[in-house]
Amino acid sequence: MKMPQTPAVARTLSTLQRTLEGLRKRKSTVALVPTMGALHDGHISLVRLAKRRADKVVVSIFVNPTQFAPHEDYGSYPRTWKADAVKLAAEGVDLIWNPDARLMYPEGFVTRIQVEGPATAGLEDRFRPHFFGGVATVVAKLLAQVRPDVAIFGEKDYQQLKVVTQMARDLNLGSRIVGAPIMRERDGLAMSSRNLYLTPDQRKAAPALHRSMKDVVRRLRQGEDFAATLAAGAKLIGDAGFKLDYLEARHAETLAPLTQIGGAPARLLAAATIGTTRLIDNMKI
Ligand code: AMP
Repeated sequence: MKMPQTPAVARTLSTLQRTLEGLRKRKSTVALVPTMGALHDGHISLVRLAKRRADKVVVSIFVNPTQFAPHEDYGSYPRTWKADAVKLAAEGVDLIWNPDARLMYPEGFVTRIQVEGPATAGLEDRFRPHFFGGVATVVAKLLAQVRPDVAIFGEKDYQQLKVVTQMARDLNLGSRIVGAPIMRERDGLAMSSRNLYLTPDQRKAAPALHRSMKDVVRRLRQGEDFAATLAAGAKLIGDAGFKLDYLEARHAETLAPLTQIGGAPARLLAAATIGTTRLIDNMKI
């Protein structure tokens, strides 16, 4: 068996550009998978999709300070460089782009992309008002730096996927945005770097979020009363020990609120905190 080569690692723009030039020889196409590291099998599924969609795969690892509010977990966000590099080598990734915050936001950096539409749908933006501006700005920078043919984003962050897709289209960024399905633990909990924060008891309780959402989806599909079903779902999630931020059925593309199921493609989205850890999840209705 041919062993995959150790990925190149770029930490400066000049190394990035030089390595990309090498990768693009013979008209190879390039896919980018943006991540904040602490890689799990959800990230790896994006890498595998990237390999199917392009000749060469670049993974960025950058914990982006501008998408965290001061009270959030930027300082304590898990940073597991060595393990991440081993995982990406095993997948045959071509290049890891690992800039630091000073490179991405040097002295005098003042630009921030303002996103609307899906970014102001009243879901994550209601609880993390700084978030999508920070995400849009860093993703625009990553796409400008790497100029990939395709960029892969997980449906796990469903609203983010819609925001990035809209931005790439609006700004003619030249990369096709591709969504990838949510990877889950065996008990249904959506994989997330933040699952590392859960205590054993919280980890045991956490699948109730997904389980309650599945119950809501089943009842909505059976035609049960819309508002009552969502209220029952919210109660189930609360009873499992979560503090619920939202549990909402939305139009799957525009994220507009729905008052009934049928006709439009629909998505159930939720965010809830257990202990101090905020989890998000979503599923097709
Ligand atoms: P993050 O490192 O959390 O910023 O995530 C990087 C990318 O991986 C984003 O596009 C996420 O949506 C995606 N991702 C995170 N968790 C999962 C998961 N469980 N399944 C699929 N994609 C995921």
